[in-house]
Amino acid sequence: MNYARFLTAVSGARKPSPIRLLTELQQRSPPSLISLAGGAPNPNTFPFQSASIQVKNGQTITFDETAMKRALQYSASNGIPELLTWMKKLQKDLHNPPTCSYSYERGQMDMCVTTGSQEGLCKVFEMLVNPGDNVLLDAPTYSGTLAALQPLGCNIINVPSDQHGMIPAALKDVLSRWDPSEVHKPGSTAPRILYTIPNGGNPTGASMTAERKRDVYELARLYDMLIIEDDPYYFLQFEKPWAPTFLSMDVDGRIIRTDSFSKILSSGLRIGFVTGPKPLVDRIVLHIQASTMHTSTFTQLMVSQLLHSWGQEGFLTHIDGVIDFYRKQRDAMISSADRWLKDVAEWHAPSAGMFLWIKLKGIADTQQLIMEKALEKEVLLVPGGVFMINSGDPCPYVRAAFSLSTPEQIDEAFRRLSLLIKDAL
Ligand code: PMP
Repeated sequence: MNYARFLTAVSGARKPSPIRLLTELQQRSPPSLISLAGGAPNPNTFPFQSASIQVKNGQTITFDETAMKRALQYSASNGIPELLTWMKKLQKDLHNPPTCSYSYERGQMDMCVTTGSQEGLCKVFEMLVNPGDNVLLDAPTYSGTLAALQPLGCNIINVPSDQHGMIPAALKDVLSRWDPSEVHKPGSTAPRILYTIPNGGNPTGASMTAERKRDVYELARLYDMLIIEDDPYYFLQFEKPWAPTFLSMDVDGRIIRTDSFSKILSSGLRIGFVTGPKPLVDRIVLHIQASTMHTSTFTQLMVSQLLHSWGQEGFLTHIDGVIDFYRKQRDAMISSADRWLKDVAEWHAPSAGMFLWIKLKGIADTQQLIMEKALEKEVLLVPGGVFMINSGDPCPYVRAAFSLSTPEQIDEAFRRLSLLIKDAL
């Protein structure tokens, strides 16, 4: 893989910060080292002394004075080592990326911690997308992705999808505009990146089958594209076994995967991860060095302590509990939809995530309905237009989240929605 061909001029021009390099060197050195090099402030002047955090299972995470000093201090831009080690093992155990040309052992793949997967995604796009570039994705898609991509001035090309995600035959058709043997020619306009949400898509709830992923991966090989696998709902797949990921199929090193702890540990702590080819992860880390410097050390230490005390088994047991909750919520939402919306709407039950994507029959655009009339009926949903590439295009869908409301509230909300639709018809 020639990664240089994927980088924007801005990303290619990033250089390591000399001070950050020294800080990282110092953190790996024995305590006998006397460093006058760092610009780190003296934590003895900080007002916080120690912390004790109760975990729901009865455990306590404690930060004594020494740990607290570390938690309050600058740390490495790619993440604190013990969190990265834990996550690399998890990634390997879950996805077992093919080892032929692409393995941790050979150091060709890497990970970094990001302040939520949104930071990772935004930095991935800024690393790879030039004004005028053709970028492929299956819309409707996560509005945060559009917010990060569209200002870069690229041309987003929609790849048709259904409840099983991106349709490989449709992708093939879109790509047939370009000759695969010419994608490396100077001036080629062939897309170099493809973005998708493979599980429990936001907003569609769609999950891609393993077969579709394999077909899409083969097309990415043919056209030498990178695939951005944005998978924050991976751990919210209701059925086991979980679907194999793009990362698990990546024989070439063309997958950049973003993971998130937002749906399973905390959304407010802001912890996500980018996994991908080392030359690309290195570029993201340089961007982090120049922007946030690193994800909060306190947050990382807190999460890392929890994960190390749980072990992988404890983590996966916790995930099982989260899945049970969301599966029940999904079931409640589907039965309320069956009760109230059968005549006025259509939907597919999602097998992952926390969203139901509902098509309202006989309503061309839900924007006005939601923004003007829904509040009167005391029910709120997201009008589907915000997830479209052209947000002004009419869209008959709404997105309903089953994450936060009780089954009783969901039922009442759908009763109100059904009245709203009937009034509008
Ligand atoms: N990608 C998708 C598809 C999402 O739905 C979200 C959260 N709504 C994110 C990325 C960002 O998540 P976070 O930054 O909290 O990890």
